[in-house]
Amino acid sequence: MNNKLLAQRDLAVLWHPCTQMKDHEQLPVIPIRRGTGVWLEDFDGNRYIDAISSWWVNLFGHANPRINAALHEQLDTLEHVLLAGFSHETVICLSERLVALTPLGLSRCFYADNGSSAVEVSLKMSYHYWRNLGHAHKTKFITLTNSYHGETLGALAMGNVPLYKETYAPLLMETISVPSPDCYYRESGESCADYSRRMFSHMEQALEQHAGQACAVIVEPLVQCAGSMRMYDPVYLTLLRAACDKHNVHLIADEIAVGFGRTGTMFACEQAGITPDFMCLSKGLTGGYLPLSVVLTTEVVYQAFYDDYQNLTAFLHSHSYTGNPLACRAALATLDIFEQNNVLERNQALAEAMRATTAHFADHPHVAEVRQRGMILAIEMVKDKRTREPYPWQERRGLRVYRHALEKGVLLRPLGNVVYLMPPYVITEEQIAYIAEVAWEGITLATRDA
Ligand SMILES: *Cc1c(COP(=O)(O)O)cnc(C)c1O
Repeated sequence: MNNKLLAQRDLAVLWHPCTQMKDHEQLPVIPIRRGTGVWLEDFDGNRYIDAISSWWVNLFGHANPRINAALHEQLDTLEHVLLAGFSHETVICLSERLVALTPLGLSRCFYADNGSSAVEVSLKMSYHYWRNLGHAHKTKFITLTNSYHGETLGALAMGNVPLYKETYAPLLMETISVPSPDCYYRESGESCADYSRRMFSHMEQALEQHAGQACAVIVEPLVQCAGSMRMYDPVYLTLLRAACDKHNVHLIADEIAVGFGRTGTMFACEQAGITPDFMCLSKGLTGGYLPLSVVLTTEVVYQAFYDDYQNLTAFLHSHSYTGNPLACRAALATLDIFEQNNVLERNQALAEAMRATTAHFADHPHVAEVRQRGMILAIEMVKDKRTREPYPWQERRGLRVYRHALEKGVLLRPLGNVVYLMPPYVITEEQIAYIAEVAWEGITLATRDA
């Protein structure tokens, strides 16, 4: 087997996610034979550093020996059992560990099998909580512009990235949308913290106006990842927590992308010292091995559903694979690695290497900003550095970077005009330096004729 043959068979029967399939008339689909650590190897023997953790899921490399061993053991013990009326040791251990790890006050775990489904669970739970308390008129959700919460209809409605949302707008519930504290738009000389604090006035206003009908505010803490890795200051979350309390509105923290060390702390909410009413986790939860998601919530929320069956207050939501033992076991093995390997501490050195190797990008004639929060680093390409006029999206500059990087053995997958690094934590400083070199070349090539 080689790349070409497999790509032909692929294109005859598959429909790929988030892809205009016609692009593959020009752009070959790359069949991967095996993965080891940060490396992916295709059927022609080419190797690629997975600099984006296979869409932000992989934490400790492909074919990680410890996660593999745990999965083998689980496979021979119990592959799956329904979680209604039944339970298993792996999901119990995982829930105990998650309750202990997440911000104080989150004490209950409800499982689903992907990020979007976790967002749906949090929305339904929040609405249902208020309904159980006699506030059925609370039906609205408050979201930030440029946010992303997944692709199922409820989750898509919460997001605000037009490229994904506009087509389906007639199918989606209406939300109350508040301008994002995205620090890319701060005034020159203004700190990100000051800008985030200033932008909070829009949220305060929305809460004052809509709290009576609002179930919850949903945010991606600190980094709007799908929204071009735009970042804001923790102070916004601190203010938001206080305002939600004041106005009797829940706070949903969608940490699906930023959880598990991506922003430098285990969870992004820690940097603001807050506990949300709901925390959604997925992606890194299983180290990038298997689909699993979880919504953590408080005892207060849990108790609002706890009653005699006849009162019909139960949360009658389920997914066939809720709490799948294999996925839970991968998650447990992932948490073991965090615990035993001082991962967050080691990541500080990696984050510093990411910063240092890309510091000079800020001087590139077509780079408007290099921004970073922990293990996420983003480089914003622009047509005009002075006015920050972006390249028209039709020019697909990011795609040029993607192609160049592949030729050089690096998987970078820019979001529009934003090139970013979000590598697995097993990457080395030398590999980071190489990725930075390839990204620089790619950006230079992609912006050359402008
Ligand atoms: C990826 C993502 C989701 C959706 O998760 P899926 O598993 O792709 O459904 C939701 N919210 C955020 C912040 C994400 O990055």
